[in-house]
Amino acid sequence: MTESGWQLKHTYTELPEVFYRETQPERAAFPEMVLFNWKLAGELGLDAANLQMEAPDVFSGNALPKGSRPIAQAYAGHQFGSFTMLGDGRAVLLGEQLAPSGKRMDIQLKGSGRTPFSRMGDGRAPLRPMLREYMISEAMHGLGIPSTRAMALITTGEAVSRGKMLPGAVLTRVASSHIRVGTFEYAARAEGDGNVRLLADYAIRRHYPELAAKPDKYREFLDAVIERQADLISKWQHVGFIHGVMNTDNMTISGETIDYGPCAFMDVYHPETCFSSIDAQKRYSYQNQPGIGQWNIARFAETLLPLLHEDKEEAVKIAQQSLSHFGQLYNEKWQKGMRDKLGLDGSGSQDDALGMELLDLMSHHQADFTKTFRTLSLDGWNDDALMASERFKDWRRRWQERLEAQGLVVESAYEQMRQVNPAVIPRNHLVEEALNLAVEQGDYSKATKLIEVFATPFDDGHDKEYKEPPEDDEKITMTFCG
Ligand code: AMP
Ligand code: MG
Ligand code: MG
Repeated sequence: MTESGWQLKHTYTELPEVFYRETQPERAAFPEMVLFNWKLAGELGLDAANLQMEAPDVFSGNALPKGSRPIAQAYAGHQFGSFTMLGDGRAVLLGEQLAPSGKRMDIQLKGSGRTPFSRMGDGRAPLRPMLREYMISEAMHGLGIPSTRAMALITTGEAVSRGKMLPGAVLTRVASSHIRVGTFEYAARAEGDGNVRLLADYAIRRHYPELAAKPDKYREFLDAVIERQADLISKWQHVGFIHGVMNTDNMTISGETIDYGPCAFMDVYHPETCFSSIDAQKRYSYQNQPGIGQWNIARFAETLLPLLHEDKEEAVKIAQQSLSHFGQLYNEKWQKGMRDKLGLDGSGSQDDALGMELLDLMSHHQADFTKTFRTLSLDGWNDDALMASERFKDWRRRWQERLEAQGLVVESAYEQMRQVNPAVIPRNHLVEEALNLAVEQGDYSKATKLIEVFATPFDDGHDKEYKEPPEDDEKITMTFCG
Protein backbone atom coordinates (compact mmCIF):
# COMPACT_ATOMS: atom_id res chain seq x y z
CA MET A 1 0.00 0.00 0.00
CA THR A 2 1.20 3.53 -0.78
CA GLU A 3 1.02 6.53 1.56
CA SER A 4 -2.04 7.72 -0.27
CA GLY A 5 -3.67 4.33 0.24
CA TRP A 6 -3.57 3.04 -3.33
CA GLN A 7 -4.05 -0.72 -3.56
CA LEU A 8 -4.46 -1.12 -7.29
CA LYS A 9 -5.02 -4.59 -8.72
CA HIS A 10 -5.48 -5.70 -12.30
CA THR A 11 -7.60 -8.81 -12.49
CA TYR A 12 -9.19 -7.65 -15.76
CA THR A 13 -5.89 -8.08 -17.58
CA GLU A 14 -5.93 -11.77 -16.70
CA LEU A 15 -8.55 -12.08 -19.43
CA PRO A 16 -7.23 -12.71 -22.97
CA GLU A 17 -5.60 -9.69 -24.60
CA VAL A 18 -8.51 -9.15 -26.99
CA PHE A 19 -10.45 -7.70 -24.06
CA TYR A 20 -8.29 -4.62 -23.57
CA ARG A 21 -5.40 -2.51 -24.81
CA GLU A 22 -2.67 -1.00 -22.68
CA THR A 23 -3.03 2.75 -22.96
CA GLN A 24 -1.51 5.80 -21.31
CA PRO A 25 -3.70 8.76 -20.41
CA GLU A 26 -2.70 11.91 -22.29
CA ARG A 27 -1.38 14.95 -20.47
CA ALA A 28 -3.64 17.80 -19.45
CA ALA A 29 -2.03 21.25 -19.81
CA PHE A 30 -3.15 22.95 -16.59
CA PRO A 31 -4.98 20.49 -14.38
CA GLU A 32 -7.01 22.04 -11.61
CA MET A 33 -9.09 20.10 -9.16
CA VAL A 34 -12.56 21.60 -8.92
CA LEU A 35 -14.49 18.87 -7.08
CA PHE A 36 -13.37 15.96 -4.98
CA ASN A 37 -15.42 13.35 -3.17
CA TRP A 38 -13.44 12.95 0.05
CA LYS A 39 -16.03 10.68 1.60
CA LEU A 40 -15.89 8.21 -1.29
CA ALA A 41 -12.09 8.37 -1.33
CA GLY A 42 -12.08 7.55 2.38
CA GLU A 43 -14.37 4.57 1.81
CA LEU A 44 -11.92 3.34 -0.82
CA GLY A 45 -9.08 3.50 1.72
CA LEU A 46 -7.45 6.57 0.19
CA ASP A 47 -5.79 9.02 2.55
CA ALA A 48 -7.04 12.58 2.13
CA ALA A 49 -3.96 14.43 3.39
CA ASN A 50 -1.50 12.48 1.25
CA LEU A 51 -3.79 12.33 -1.73
CA GLN A 52 -4.30 16.10 -1.78
CA MET A 53 -0.71 16.58 -2.97
CA GLU A 54 -0.94 14.28 -5.96
CA ALA A 55 -4.65 14.65 -6.73
CA PRO A 56 -4.66 17.18 -9.62
CA ASP A 57 -1.97 15.20 -11.44
CA VAL A 58 -3.31 11.75 -10.73
CA PHE A 59 -6.94 12.53 -11.50
CA SER A 60 -6.11 14.34 -14.73
CA GLY A 61 -3.90 11.54 -16.03
CA ASN A 62 -0.68 13.57 -15.77
CA ALA A 63 0.79 11.14 -13.27
CA LEU A 64 -0.18 7.56 -12.59
CA PRO A 65 -1.10 6.50 -9.08
CA LYS A 66 1.31 3.94 -7.70
CA GLY A 67 0.64 0.46 -9.04
CA SER A 68 -1.48 1.63 -11.96
CA ARG A 69 -1.30 -0.21 -15.29
CA PRO A 70 -3.78 1.72 -17.38
CA ILE A 71 -5.91 0.01 -20.02
CA ALA A 72 -8.77 0.82 -22.33
CA GLN A 73 -11.46 -1.87 -22.34
CA ALA A 74 -12.88 -3.32 -25.53
CA TYR A 75 -16.62 -3.68 -25.91
CA ALA A 76 -19.38 -3.55 -28.48
CA GLY A 77 -23.01 -2.63 -28.28
CA HIS A 78 -26.36 -2.06 -29.85
CA GLN A 79 -26.79 1.70 -30.16
CA PHE A 80 -30.41 2.67 -30.86
CA GLY A 81 -30.87 -0.90 -32.04
CA SER A 82 -27.83 -1.18 -34.36
CA PHE A 83 -24.77 -3.23 -33.57
CA THR A 84 -21.36 -1.47 -33.43
CA MET A 85 -17.87 -2.32 -32.23
CA LEU A 86 -16.83 0.18 -29.55
CA GLY A 87 -14.43 0.31 -26.62
CA ASP A 88 -13.21 2.96 -24.20
CA GLY A 89 -12.66 5.78 -26.64
CA ARG A 90 -12.18 8.44 -24.04
CA ALA A 91 -11.63 6.53 -20.84
CA VAL A 92 -8.82 4.61 -19.21
CA LEU A 93 -9.04 2.18 -16.35
CA LEU A 94 -6.22 2.94 -13.88
CA GLY A 95 -6.82 -0.24 -11.92
CA GLU A 96 -9.08 -1.89 -9.39
CA GLN A 97 -8.80 -0.35 -5.95
CA LEU A 98 -9.11 -2.84 -3.10
CA ALA A 99 -11.05 -0.99 -0.42
CA PRO A 100 -10.64 -1.76 3.30
CA SER A 101 -14.15 -3.26 3.20
CA GLY A 102 -12.85 -5.87 0.75
CA LYS A 103 -14.75 -4.29 -2.16
CA ARG A 104 -12.96 -4.07 -5.49
CA MET A 105 -13.72 -0.86 -7.36
CA ASP A 106 -12.64 0.22 -10.85
CA ILE A 107 -10.94 3.63 -10.92
CA GLN A 108 -11.49 5.09 -14.36
CA LEU A 109 -10.52 8.42 -15.90
CA LYS A 110 -13.07 9.74 -18.38
CA GLY A 111 -11.92 12.38 -20.87
CA SER A 112 -8.20 11.72 -20.51
CA GLY A 113 -7.41 11.54 -24.21
CA ARG A 114 -7.26 9.21 -27.15
CA THR A 115 -7.07 5.42 -26.87
CA PRO A 116 -6.83 2.65 -29.48
CA PHE A 117 -10.67 2.68 -29.49
CA SER A 118 -11.14 6.40 -30.11
CA ARG A 119 -11.97 6.00 -33.81
CA MET A 120 -12.65 9.58 -35.03
CA GLY A 121 -13.03 11.01 -31.53
CA ASP A 122 -10.56 13.18 -29.64
CA GLY A 123 -10.78 11.18 -26.41
CA ARG A 124 -11.64 14.36 -24.55
CA ALA A 125 -14.67 15.51 -22.61
CA PRO A 126 -16.17 18.96 -22.11
CA LEU A 127 -16.59 20.17 -18.54
CA ARG A 128 -20.36 20.48 -18.73
CA PRO A 129 -21.31 16.79 -19.21
CA MET A 130 -18.59 15.65 -16.79
CA LEU A 131 -19.92 17.92 -14.04
CA ARG A 132 -23.42 16.76 -14.91
CA GLU A 133 -22.39 13.13 -14.49
CA TYR A 134 -20.69 13.98 -11.19
CA MET A 135 -23.82 15.61 -9.79
CA ILE A 136 -26.41 13.15 -11.04
CA SER A 137 -24.49 9.94 -10.36
CA GLU A 138 -23.89 11.09 -6.78
CA ALA A 139 -27.56 12.05 -6.50
CA MET A 140 -28.55 8.55 -7.63
CA HIS A 141 -26.35 7.14 -4.88
CA GLY A 142 -28.08 9.47 -2.41
CA LEU A 143 -31.43 8.11 -3.56
CA GLY A 144 -30.22 4.58 -2.83
CA ILE A 145 -30.14 3.59 -6.50
CA PRO A 146 -27.15 1.49 -7.62
CA SER A 147 -24.83 3.69 -9.68
CA THR A 148 -21.30 4.32 -10.72
CA ARG A 149 -19.81 7.03 -8.48
CA ALA A 150 -17.85 10.20 -9.06
CA MET A 151 -14.61 10.80 -7.16
CA ALA A 152 -12.91 13.76 -8.81
CA LEU A 153 -13.48 16.46 -11.37
CA ILE A 154 -10.44 18.17 -12.88
CA THR A 155 -10.49 20.94 -15.42
CA THR A 156 -7.70 20.45 -17.93
CA GLY A 157 -7.07 24.10 -18.86
CA GLU A 158 -7.48 23.00 -22.49
CA ALA A 159 -10.35 23.59 -24.85
CA VAL A 160 -12.16 20.78 -26.63
CA SER A 161 -13.81 21.35 -29.94
CA ARG A 162 -17.53 20.52 -30.21
CA GLY A 163 -18.58 22.85 -32.97
CA LYS A 164 -17.31 25.56 -30.69
CA MET A 165 -14.46 25.54 -28.19
CA LEU A 166 -15.46 24.36 -24.72
CA PRO A 167 -13.52 23.98 -21.49
CA GLY A 168 -12.23 20.42 -21.06
CA ALA A 169 -12.39 18.20 -17.98
CA VAL A 170 -11.55 14.75 -16.68
CA LEU A 171 -13.96 12.86 -14.44
CA THR A 172 -12.81 10.04 -12.19
CA ARG A 173 -15.53 7.41 -12.25
CA VAL A 174 -15.67 4.64 -9.68
CA ALA A 175 -17.64 1.48 -10.46
CA SER A 176 -17.89 -2.04 -9.10
CA SER A 177 -16.80 -2.92 -12.64
CA HIS A 178 -17.25 -1.64 -16.17
CA ILE A 179 -18.41 -4.96 -17.59
CA ARG A 180 -21.37 -4.25 -19.84
CA VAL A 181 -23.87 -6.25 -21.85
CA GLY A 182 -21.78 -4.84 -24.70
CA THR A 183 -18.66 -6.51 -23.29
CA PHE A 184 -20.38 -9.87 -23.74
CA GLU A 185 -21.49 -8.92 -27.24
CA TYR A 186 -17.86 -8.10 -27.98
CA ALA A 187 -16.62 -11.38 -26.44
CA ALA A 188 -19.06 -13.37 -28.58
CA ARG A 189 -17.48 -11.90 -31.72
CA ALA A 190 -13.84 -11.49 -30.66
CA GLU A 191 -11.12 -13.70 -32.05
CA GLY A 192 -10.16 -16.71 -29.96
CA ASP A 193 -11.99 -19.59 -28.34
CA GLY A 194 -14.03 -19.49 -25.18
CA ASN A 195 -14.05 -15.73 -24.71
CA VAL A 196 -17.64 -15.60 -23.51
CA ARG A 197 -17.02 -18.39 -21.03
CA LEU A 198 -13.90 -16.65 -19.70
CA LEU A 199 -15.75 -13.35 -19.38
CA ALA A 200 -18.77 -15.01 -17.75
CA ASP A 201 -16.54 -16.79 -15.23
CA TYR A 202 -14.79 -13.51 -14.52
CA ALA A 203 -18.07 -11.60 -14.08
CA ILE A 204 -19.46 -14.33 -11.83
CA ARG A 205 -16.34 -14.22 -9.66
CA ARG A 206 -16.56 -10.47 -9.43
CA HIS A 207 -20.29 -9.86 -9.04
CA TYR A 208 -22.05 -13.13 -8.29
CA PRO A 209 -19.44 -15.24 -6.41
CA GLU A 210 -22.20 -17.25 -4.74
CA LEU A 211 -22.92 -18.82 -8.16
CA ALA A 212 -19.37 -19.93 -8.94
CA ALA A 213 -19.78 -23.49 -7.67
CA LYS A 214 -23.33 -24.03 -8.93
CA PRO A 215 -23.77 -26.79 -11.55
CA ASP A 216 -26.10 -24.54 -13.56
CA LYS A 217 -24.08 -21.41 -12.98
CA TYR A 218 -24.49 -19.75 -16.41
CA ARG A 219 -28.28 -19.95 -16.36
CA GLU A 220 -28.25 -18.68 -12.80
CA PHE A 221 -25.90 -15.91 -13.88
CA LEU A 222 -28.38 -14.89 -16.57
CA ASP A 223 -31.21 -14.98 -14.03
CA ALA A 224 -29.19 -12.94 -11.55
CA VAL A 225 -28.42 -10.22 -14.10
CA ILE A 226 -32.10 -10.19 -15.09
CA GLU A 227 -33.06 -9.76 -11.45
CA ARG A 228 -30.64 -6.87 -10.89
CA GLN A 229 -31.65 -5.05 -14.04
CA ALA A 230 -35.37 -5.48 -13.33
CA ASP A 231 -34.67 -4.10 -9.88
CA LEU A 232 -32.61 -1.19 -11.17
CA ILE A 233 -35.09 -0.12 -13.81
CA SER A 234 -38.02 -0.33 -11.40
CA LYS A 235 -36.06 1.96 -9.07
CA TRP A 236 -35.52 4.43 -11.93
CA GLN A 237 -39.24 4.43 -12.66
CA HIS A 238 -40.12 5.12 -9.04
CA VAL A 239 -38.15 8.35 -8.97
CA GLY A 240 -38.91 9.44 -12.54
CA PHE A 241 -35.36 8.92 -13.80
CA ILE A 242 -34.99 8.70 -17.57
CA HIS A 243 -31.63 7.29 -18.58
CA GLY A 244 -31.88 8.56 -22.12
CA VAL A 245 -29.39 6.28 -23.84
CA MET A 246 -30.06 2.68 -22.85
CA ASN A 247 -27.76 1.18 -25.46
CA THR A 248 -26.44 -2.26 -24.55
CA ASP A 249 -22.97 -0.77 -23.97
CA ASN A 250 -24.56 1.39 -21.29
CA MET A 251 -26.05 -1.52 -19.34
CA THR A 252 -23.84 -3.05 -16.65
CA ILE A 253 -23.62 -6.66 -15.53
CA SER A 254 -23.32 -5.45 -11.92
CA GLY A 255 -26.71 -3.70 -12.07
CA GLU A 256 -25.28 -0.22 -11.54
CA THR A 257 -26.59 2.75 -13.50
CA ILE A 258 -23.88 3.87 -15.93
CA ASP A 259 -23.45 6.66 -18.49
CA TYR A 260 -25.11 9.90 -17.56
CA GLY A 261 -25.15 11.46 -21.03
CA PRO A 262 -28.61 12.85 -21.77
CA CYS A 263 -30.35 11.49 -18.66
CA ALA A 264 -32.89 13.57 -16.74
CA PHE A 265 -35.56 13.39 -14.07
CA MET A 266 -39.06 14.25 -15.14
CA ASP A 267 -40.90 17.00 -13.36
CA VAL A 268 -44.45 16.69 -14.69
CA TYR A 269 -45.54 13.07 -14.87
CA HIS A 270 -46.06 11.88 -18.37
CA PRO A 271 -45.21 8.33 -19.49
CA GLU A 272 -43.94 9.41 -22.90
CA THR A 273 -41.41 11.85 -21.47
CA CYS A 274 -38.10 11.81 -23.32
CA PHE A 275 -35.47 14.54 -23.04
CA SER A 276 -32.62 13.36 -25.23
CA SER A 277 -32.00 15.55 -28.26
CA ILE A 278 -30.65 12.60 -30.26
CA ASP A 279 -33.67 10.34 -29.63
CA ALA A 280 -36.20 11.53 -32.20
CA GLN A 281 -38.09 8.21 -32.12
CA LYS A 282 -38.43 8.38 -28.30
CA ARG A 283 -36.95 4.88 -28.15
CA TYR A 284 -35.65 5.59 -24.65
CA SER A 285 -38.66 7.40 -23.20
CA TYR A 286 -39.75 6.85 -19.59
CA GLN A 287 -42.42 4.27 -20.41
CA ASN A 288 -40.14 2.35 -22.77
CA GLN A 289 -37.37 1.75 -20.22
CA PRO A 290 -38.57 -1.65 -18.91
CA GLY A 291 -39.16 -2.98 -22.43
CA ILE A 292 -35.77 -1.75 -23.58
CA GLY A 293 -34.22 -3.34 -20.51
CA GLN A 294 -35.69 -6.65 -21.58
CA TRP A 295 -34.53 -6.16 -25.16
CA ASN A 296 -30.99 -5.48 -23.94
CA ILE A 297 -31.05 -8.55 -21.71
CA ALA A 298 -32.11 -10.60 -24.73
CA ARG A 299 -28.91 -9.45 -26.50
CA PHE A 300 -27.00 -10.56 -23.38
CA ALA A 301 -28.75 -13.94 -23.30
CA GLU A 302 -27.85 -14.52 -26.97
CA THR A 303 -24.16 -14.27 -26.12
CA LEU A 304 -24.59 -16.89 -23.38
CA LEU A 305 -26.38 -19.48 -25.57
CA PRO A 306 -23.32 -21.72 -26.08
CA LEU A 307 -22.88 -21.87 -22.30
CA LEU A 308 -26.50 -22.68 -21.52
CA HIS A 309 -26.71 -25.98 -23.39
CA GLU A 310 -24.66 -27.80 -26.03
CA ASP A 311 -27.80 -28.24 -28.09
CA LYS A 312 -28.67 -24.91 -29.71
CA GLU A 313 -32.43 -25.43 -29.54
CA GLU A 314 -32.30 -26.42 -25.89
CA ALA A 315 -30.15 -23.39 -25.16
CA VAL A 316 -32.67 -21.08 -26.82
CA LYS A 317 -35.45 -22.63 -24.77
CA ILE A 318 -33.55 -22.05 -21.53
CA ALA A 319 -32.76 -18.47 -22.49
CA GLN A 320 -36.34 -17.75 -23.46
CA GLN A 321 -37.61 -19.11 -20.21
CA SER A 322 -35.26 -16.90 -18.23
CA LEU A 323 -36.09 -13.88 -20.38
CA SER A 324 -39.80 -14.38 -19.87
CA HIS A 325 -39.18 -13.80 -16.15
CA PHE A 326 -37.91 -10.30 -16.76
CA GLY A 327 -41.36 -8.85 -17.37
CA GLN A 328 -42.90 -10.69 -14.46
CA LEU A 329 -40.07 -9.72 -12.08
CA TYR A 330 -40.14 -6.16 -13.25
CA ASN A 331 -43.91 -5.93 -12.76
CA GLU A 332 -43.69 -7.34 -9.25
CA LYS A 333 -40.96 -4.88 -8.34
CA TRP A 334 -42.79 -2.00 -9.95
CA GLN A 335 -46.03 -2.83 -8.10
CA LYS A 336 -44.24 -3.32 -4.80
CA GLY A 337 -42.45 0.00 -5.23
CA MET A 338 -45.69 1.80 -6.09
CA ARG A 339 -47.40 0.33 -3.04
CA ASP A 340 -44.47 1.52 -0.92
CA LYS A 341 -44.79 4.98 -2.44
CA LEU A 342 -48.40 5.00 -1.28
CA GLY A 343 -47.82 3.33 2.09
CA LEU A 344 -49.96 0.35 1.12
CA ASP A 345 -49.14 -3.13 2.35
CA GLY A 346 -50.68 -5.01 -0.56
CA SER A 347 -53.40 -6.69 1.50
CA GLY A 348 -56.14 -4.73 -0.26
CA SER A 349 -57.49 -6.06 -3.54
CA GLN A 350 -57.45 -2.51 -4.99
CA ASP A 351 -53.93 -1.53 -3.82
CA ASP A 352 -52.30 -1.81 -7.24
CA ALA A 353 -55.28 -0.24 -8.99
CA LEU A 354 -55.04 2.77 -6.67
CA GLY A 355 -51.49 3.40 -7.86
CA MET A 356 -52.44 3.17 -11.52
CA GLU A 357 -55.40 5.43 -11.00
CA LEU A 358 -53.27 8.08 -9.32
CA LEU A 359 -50.74 8.00 -12.17
CA ASP A 360 -53.55 8.47 -14.69
CA LEU A 361 -54.83 11.47 -12.78
CA MET A 362 -51.31 12.90 -12.46
CA SER A 363 -50.77 12.56 -16.18
CA HIS A 364 -54.16 14.10 -16.95
CA HIS A 365 -53.55 17.11 -14.69
CA GLN A 366 -49.83 17.41 -15.49
CA ALA A 367 -48.89 17.03 -11.86
CA ASP A 368 -45.30 17.08 -10.67
CA PHE A 369 -44.21 13.47 -10.07
CA THR A 370 -41.88 14.05 -7.12
CA LYS A 371 -43.90 16.72 -5.37
CA THR A 372 -47.18 14.79 -5.58
CA PHE A 373 -45.78 11.74 -3.81
CA ARG A 374 -43.87 13.80 -1.25
CA THR A 375 -46.92 15.88 -0.41
CA LEU A 376 -49.00 12.73 0.04
CA SER A 377 -46.26 11.42 2.38
CA LEU A 378 -46.62 14.60 4.44
CA ASP A 379 -50.41 14.31 4.45
CA GLY A 380 -50.47 17.72 2.78
CA TRP A 381 -52.09 19.40 -0.19
CA ASN A 382 -50.57 21.02 -3.27
CA ASP A 383 -52.02 24.09 -4.85
CA ASP A 384 -52.36 22.46 -8.26
CA ALA A 385 -54.93 21.22 -10.74
CA LEU A 386 -54.54 17.60 -9.64
CA MET A 387 -55.32 18.18 -6.00
CA ALA A 388 -58.11 20.63 -6.82
CA SER A 389 -59.92 18.05 -8.92
CA GLU A 390 -62.94 16.14 -7.62
CA ARG A 391 -61.65 12.86 -9.00
CA PHE A 392 -58.44 13.24 -7.01
CA LYS A 393 -60.36 14.06 -3.84
CA ASP A 394 -62.39 10.92 -4.35
CA TRP A 395 -59.23 8.92 -4.98
CA ARG A 396 -57.65 10.35 -1.85
CA ARG A 397 -60.63 9.44 0.28
CA ARG A 398 -60.47 5.84 -0.92
CA TRP A 399 -56.69 5.73 -0.46
CA GLN A 400 -56.93 7.02 3.11
CA GLU A 401 -59.64 4.51 3.91
CA ARG A 402 -57.21 1.81 2.79
CA LEU A 403 -54.44 3.24 4.97
CA GLU A 404 -56.76 3.21 7.96
CA ALA A 405 -57.93 -0.31 7.21
CA GLN A 406 -54.35 -1.58 7.40
CA GLY A 407 -54.49 -1.60 11.17
CA LEU A 408 -51.32 0.40 11.83
CA VAL A 409 -51.36 4.01 12.91
CA VAL A 410 -51.70 5.94 9.67
CA GLU A 411 -48.77 8.16 10.66
CA SER A 412 -46.42 5.18 10.42
CA ALA A 413 -47.49 4.65 6.80
CA TYR A 414 -46.65 8.28 6.07
CA GLU A 415 -43.32 7.82 7.83
CA GLN A 416 -42.49 4.87 5.57
CA MET A 417 -43.60 6.80 2.50
CA ARG A 418 -41.13 9.54 3.39
CA GLN A 419 -38.31 6.96 3.18
CA VAL A 420 -39.07 6.24 -0.47
CA ASN A 421 -40.58 9.44 -1.89
CA PRO A 422 -37.76 11.98 -2.15
CA ALA A 423 -38.31 15.63 -1.26
CA VAL A 424 -35.58 16.64 -3.70
CA ILE A 425 -34.32 15.18 -6.96
CA PRO A 426 -31.76 16.65 -9.40
CA ARG A 427 -34.29 18.70 -11.28
CA ASN A 428 -33.08 19.81 -14.69
CA HIS A 429 -33.47 23.51 -14.05
CA LEU A 430 -31.40 23.33 -10.86
CA VAL A 431 -28.69 21.25 -12.51
CA GLU A 432 -28.58 23.52 -15.58
CA GLU A 433 -28.25 26.63 -13.44
CA ALA A 434 -25.31 25.14 -11.55
CA LEU A 435 -23.70 23.97 -14.80
CA ASN A 436 -24.00 27.41 -16.38
CA LEU A 437 -22.38 29.06 -13.40
CA ALA A 438 -19.51 26.57 -13.34
CA VAL A 439 -18.85 26.52 -17.08
CA GLU A 440 -19.31 30.23 -17.76
CA GLN A 441 -17.85 31.72 -14.59
CA GLY A 442 -15.77 28.99 -12.99
CA ASP A 443 -18.06 29.25 -9.97
CA TYR A 444 -18.73 25.84 -8.39
CA SER A 445 -20.67 27.09 -5.37
CA LYS A 446 -24.08 26.09 -6.74
CA ALA A 447 -22.83 22.72 -7.95
CA THR A 448 -21.23 22.05 -4.57
CA LYS A 449 -24.42 23.06 -2.77
CA LEU A 450 -26.56 20.82 -5.00
CA ILE A 451 -24.27 17.84 -4.48
CA GLU A 452 -24.71 18.35 -0.74
CA VAL A 453 -28.51 18.68 -1.00
CA PHE A 454 -28.86 15.64 -3.28
CA ALA A 455 -26.95 13.51 -0.77
CA THR A 456 -29.93 13.62 1.62
CA PRO A 457 -32.96 13.60 -0.68
CA PHE A 458 -35.44 12.29 1.88
CA ASP A 459 -34.94 15.30 4.19
CA ASP A 460 -37.58 17.97 4.33
CA GLY A 461 -35.17 20.49 5.80
CA HIS A 462 -33.86 21.68 2.42
CA ASP A 463 -34.73 25.17 1.20
CA LYS A 464 -37.85 25.51 -0.88
CA GLU A 465 -35.93 26.31 -4.06
CA TYR A 466 -34.54 22.74 -4.12
CA LYS A 467 -37.93 21.11 -3.66
CA GLU A 468 -40.21 23.09 -5.94
CA PRO A 469 -40.83 22.18 -9.58
CA PRO A 470 -39.60 24.67 -12.18
CA GLU A 471 -41.64 27.73 -13.11
CA ASP A 472 -42.79 27.71 -16.73
CA ASP A 473 -39.84 29.86 -17.86
CA GLU A 474 -37.35 27.62 -16.03
CA LYS A 475 -38.43 24.37 -17.66
CA ILE A 476 -35.80 22.38 -19.54
CA THR A 477 -37.27 20.10 -22.17
CA MET A 478 -34.17 18.82 -23.91
CA THR A 479 -30.84 17.33 -22.86
CA PHE A 480 -27.68 16.69 -24.86
CA CYS A 481 -25.01 14.02 -24.88
CA GLY A 482 -21.52 14.97 -23.87
P1 AMP B 1 -21.57 6.87 -25.15
O1 AMP B 1 -22.53 7.48 -26.13
O2 AMP B 1 -21.10 7.85 -24.11
O3 AMP B 1 -22.08 5.62 -24.55
O4 AMP B 1 -20.27 6.51 -25.99
C1 AMP B 1 -20.32 5.65 -27.08
C2 AMP B 1 -18.94 5.33 -27.56
O5 AMP B 1 -18.30 6.50 -28.10
C3 AMP B 1 -18.00 4.81 -26.50
O6 AMP B 1 -17.24 3.78 -27.06
C4 AMP B 1 -17.13 6.00 -26.17
O7 AMP B 1 -15.88 5.60 -25.69
C5 AMP B 1 -17.04 6.70 -27.53
N1 AMP B 1 -16.77 8.14 -27.39
C6 AMP B 1 -17.59 9.09 -26.90
N2 AMP B 1 -17.00 10.30 -26.93
C7 AMP B 1 -15.76 10.13 -27.44
C8 AMP B 1 -14.65 10.99 -27.74
N3 AMP B 1 -14.71 12.30 -27.48
N4 AMP B 1 -13.55 10.45 -28.25
C9 AMP B 1 -13.48 9.13 -28.51
N5 AMP B 1 -14.47 8.27 -28.28
C10 AMP B 1 -15.60 8.74 -27.74
MG1 MG C 1 -21.38 4.80 -22.83
MG1 MG D 1 -21.81 8.70 -22.59
